[in-house]
Amino acid sequence: MTPTTRTNPPPHLGPPPYLGPPPYLAALLLAGRRVVVVGGGTVAQRRLPDLLDTGAEITIVAPHLTPSIESLVRAGSVTWRPKRFEANDLDSAWYALALTDDPAVNASVVLAAEAARVFCVRADDGNAATALTPATGRHGAVRVAVLGGGDPRRAAAVRDGVVEALREGRLDDLPRRGGGGAPAVAIVGGGPGDPDLITVRGRRLLAHADVVVADRLAPQLLLSELAPHVEVVDAAKLPRGRAMSQQAINELLVERARAGKHVVRLKGGDPFVFGRGFEEVEACVAAGVPVTVVPGITSAIAVPGHARIPLTHRGIAQEAVIVSGHLAPDDAASLVDWHAVARLSGTLVLLMAVERLAQIAQVLLDHGKAADTPVAIVQDGTLPTERVVTARLGTVADVVGREQVKPPAVVVIGAVVALRARLGAQSPGAG
Ligand code: SAH
Repeated sequence: MTPTTRTNPPPHLGPPPYLGPPPYLAALLLAGRRVVVVGGGTVAQRRLPDLLDTGAEITIVAPHLTPSIESLVRAGSVTWRPKRFEANDLDSAWYALALTDDPAVNASVVLAAEAARVFCVRADDGNAATALTPATGRHGAVRVAVLGGGDPRRAAAVRDGVVEALREGRLDDLPRRGGGGAPAVAIVGGGPGDPDLITVRGRRLLAHADVVVADRLAPQLLLSELAPHVEVVDAAKLPRGRAMSQQAINELLVERARAGKHVVRLKGGDPFVFGRGFEEVEACVAAGVPVTVVPGITSAIAVPGHARIPLTHRGIAQEAVIVSGHLAPDDAASLVDWHAVARLSGTLVLLMAVERLAQIAQVLLDHGKAADTPVAIVQDGTLPTERVVTARLGTVADVVGREQVKPPAVVVIGAVVALRARLGAQSPGAG
């Protein structure tokens, strides 16, 4: 690149705004069609995921690639011509993108594309191109594409606004009644408690739900966002007894779905981690009701993580085991091999274990786990009331009693717990 041939502002000012006549908006169906990307730098890297998504046959023409484009080449997802651009690189192309940081090269790509009647975008100057790349977003099957009248930041802001509104249900993309997709049940993991820690898909399904059947440990703030017409059923208030209430929940899900409702079964954490989610999936399948599973961020990993306790750490823990503490170790119904668990060198994560922590600690000690093994109990993880209590395995029973630790809490046992102290006193939720 020679500075004298530069006709564009330096890159930090961004490309000049497009000032030409109005573009005609269309969507390209590129599956199986050749698309030529000229340039192998970060601009190309950012454009590639959306292009790959279309199923296009992508050829990259560039002497050098970024490491992440290189890995796409190695995976066979794109073809690489390791050379400088020449006009015949566009042979049989349907679409071209001039994405180098050299304006002269980009200009030659647009020129060759024009001659070949191939539409071509140009990253550094839309005015000199034959196509423009909009700011794009998605919300399920809905695609949003925005041109900002020459201002890419405006385009991105409008795109963000529309996508956010769709996600939060402020902009309704489904007609309320009829034609709103087949009624079905979604078993949704709500995450550990902070309402921001649900997945995008979970939030979208909630925004379109007619009925929400919520667990006690599902993020309660998500329920307060629901529209007034949404029927909210508190699963904890269904008939008494574990088996009975599960039966009642299953029947309710099936019954509401058959009545034509969109049903969300909102659970804490991940539906399949001590959540009985699979039983609900089975009930729907048995009843012939369509059911989807939306995984969630499980408290087993996220609650320690939010309290800055990594479950694995290089050189310290190469395994993490999640164990339910809802049964006493000597309970005949317990399936846990506490002897094997005690022998693990890695991290032990206990859920539903506050009430039986004294017995569990004792059985681990009896089977040889060191009394000075660090322990952390994180109560109300990711919520404003989050509290972290630390102890050693030998003293944890006393500490839990003295500190009056209450469920819900995640117990972490292992050397990783001590890492948290390395971060100093500023850890949020330090208790
Ligand atoms: N499916 C859930 C777990 C259900 S079992 C998940 O994947 O997270 C319920 C147990 O999860 C509680 O007893 C507690 O051990 C843990 N738990 C859930 N939410 C929690 C939170 N916010 N803070 C601490 N522990 C939590």
